[in-house]
Amino acid sequence: MNLKPEFVKSAPKWDDCPEPNKPEYAFIGRSNVGKSSLINMLANQKDLAKTSGTPGKTQLINVFLMQESWYLTDLPGYGYARVSKTKRGQFEKMITNYLTLRPNLINTFVLIDCRIPPQKIDLEFMEWMGENRIPFSMVFTKIDKISSTALQKALMNYRKEMMKTWESMPQVFTSSATGRIGRLELLNFISDINEQLKDQF
Ligand code: GDP
Repeated sequence: MNLKPEFVKSAPKWDDCPEPNKPEYAFIGRSNVGKSSLINMLANQKDLAKTSGTPGKTQLINVFLMQESWYLTDLPGYGYARVSKTKRGQFEKMITNYLTLRPNLINTFVLIDCRIPPQKIDLEFMEWMGENRIPFSMVFTKIDKISSTALQKALMNYRKEMMKTWESMPQVFTSSATGRIGRLELLNFISDINEQLKDQF
């Protein structure tokens, strides 16, 4: 599947993003979760998404046009421990504004490193998404790093943790950028939704 990815712009705020005339899918997760690698794997391009780099650096919403028909947004990674409280506040506002106000946002993929036990910051973020009725899916990244038994165990463990507060689990994907695993599942999921929405855009 050739997505013909094109970089559109880096937007400092939700309302600087391109005109909302195409379905949009966002990717978010803690820094180092493997977000850039996953986006590059989906796009089949080496350096489309760039690693966020130093904490505290200007954080932007990077928008890409895919298949000339939908937008992929690369949201800044959250969870930098070292940025100041004020900066963190501004940064959170930028993300929450984007997630609550962007009218064409169809689904957000929340990335989770499959090797790390459930973290408060991710659980709270998903809780917030649920409270605000923002549709999201989970993507467990870097699955090449653990055995399939360990992966099953990690997924069960996450499920157990989430079911303390959720009535049902969101859609779950697993991926490996190095192993090129999960690409078609994610792209088919997006294509299916785009097909259903084709009269709306
Ligand atoms: P980001 O900060 O979330 O954009 O994360 P990156 O994509 O820059 O990845 C962080 C680190 O994890 C890098 O050293 C990557 O090479 C590594 N990484 C990312 N995805 C995978 C994966 O699927 N498998 C393995 N083994 N390493 C990965």
